[in-house]
Amino acid sequence: MSAPPTSPAATAPEGATEAAEAAVEAIRSAAGQDTSFSLQLSQDQKDIRDWVHGFAADVVRPAAHEWDEKEQTPWPIIQEAAKIGLYGYEGMAQFFADPTGLTLPIVNEELFWGDAGIGMSIFGTSLAVAAIFGQGSGEQIGEWIPRCFGTVDDVKVAAFCASEPNAGSDVSGVRSTAKFDEGAGEWVLNGQKAWATNGGIADVHVVIASVDRELGARGHGAFVVPMSEAKGISQGTKVSKHGLRASHTADVFLDDCRVPAGYVLGGKEKLDERLARVREGKRSKSQAAMQTFEASRPTVAAQALGIARAAYEYALDYAKEREQFGRKIIENQAIAFTLARMKTEIDAARLLAWRASWMGRNGLAFENAEGSMSKLKAGEVAVWVTERAIQILGGNGYAREFPVERWHRDAKIYDIFEGTAEIQQLVIARAISGMHIK
Ligand SMILES: Cc1cc2nc3c(=O)[nH]c(=O)nc-3n(C[C@H](O)[C@H](O)[C@H](O)COP(=O)(O)OP(=O)(O)OC[C@H]3O[C@@H](n4cnc5c(N)ncnc54)[C@H](O)[C@@H]3O)c2cc1C
Repeated sequence: MSAPPTSPAATAPEGATEAAEAAVEAIRSAAGQDTSFSLQLSQDQKDIRDWVHGFAADVVRPAAHEWDEKEQTPWPIIQEAAKIGLYGYEGMAQFFADPTGLTLPIVNEELFWGDAGIGMSIFGTSLAVAAIFGQGSGEQIGEWIPRCFGTVDDVKVAAFCASEPNAGSDVSGVRSTAKFDEGAGEWVLNGQKAWATNGGIADVHVVIASVDRELGARGHGAFVVPMSEAKGISQGTKVSKHGLRASHTADVFLDDCRVPAGYVLGGKEKLDERLARVREGKRSKSQAAMQTFEASRPTVAAQALGIARAAYEYALDYAKEREQFGRKIIENQAIAFTLARMKTEIDAARLLAWRASWMGRNGLAFENAEGSMSKLKAGEVAVWVTERAIQILGGNGYAREFPVERWHRDAKIYDIFEGTAEIQQLVIARAISGMHIK
């Protein structure tokens, strides 16, 4: 596989920080470009889509069964992705820079079409990257985003640690604390994080911790905790999962874990100012964890659609081949109509994801919780489509030898993580009603 079609890698400066700054600049300069989106994809978007699809088809899908069975992080495949520029800050910046916002969901859909477990191993890093990009200062972005990815020869992953055993849907329940030690000029973090994708195997961990518990979620800060530097951070139990099994999920423990003052995203001064505003009863739109989730929802929706599309395509081909009662099973309306609805649902969900991604990229407020709508719909479509695909394959759909049961197992997580389906409905209901629905 070759480098991305219009990769900035070819022209990026030597030093990691300079290169990151160049990537950020590419994103900023895109701000002045035409931001309207057309369903007629540009040549650039098509080229990137086809390039990622090639990698998904040739490298990811053939390896999917093996890594699902092994239940291990597919480091060699992450490295392959790094080699071609699909995994790395320059690639990520290029996808994000598209002013229409469509490239990022397109890339995610194609990669997850190949396999969601491997896809998450490759793109799980992006949640931490989104947090750093969304909340970090220019200097922090330049320093930490490249470190999230490492280099081609020494690939790293990153983790975003918000959830805790008693704080899942309700992030205000976060019990991990960050206290500032004035004498040492360091933050001291304590607590237990749960369910962290790449938790413990990442170098950069972005940890959400409470600085002022009385302020609930508004008293949270986001801290960069590099495993290679900080003492007192360790991996807890690795979770054995129903799906997405190539992706590592684990608890992370923080035990008097110390990081320098400047490792809070946005800087200590800004955090202090924000907390002071909240204490005075002034509005603060910034909630460290929610900001990150809100920004990433359309991309997560696109991942779910990649799985759904894989299952739909497989079921369509199968139905055109398989004969019962002397005819192809697709010649029965029951099967053909199911496939028609599968395709319709996928395309409808994609439009929601693209709309939200376009809005998010162009700074349009999600007044009706369009990000949540896209994630809710895509998650439900992925679960439903993959379940129907099993039905169309009959016994083969239920067998490990065929990929469809894996896709169904993988799809279910999209009803759960980054806000469950119920929480998405809560967010939408509050947005459309203006009322505090419980
Ligand atoms: C594979 C995997 C990867 C993950 N990766 C990460 C990660 O990288 N970083 C991270 O921080 N977290 C991660 N998570 C955690 C994930 O975000 C949480 O599991 C999710 O937010 C749900 O929280 P919970 O599991 O505590 O469920 P709970 O919050 O306990 O919810 C249980 C049920 O109650 C429902 N419920 C809760 N409150 C309400 C309400 N008000 N109204 C109606 N229904 C409600 C929920 O919808 C759900 O059905 C991951 C989880 C998994 C499984």
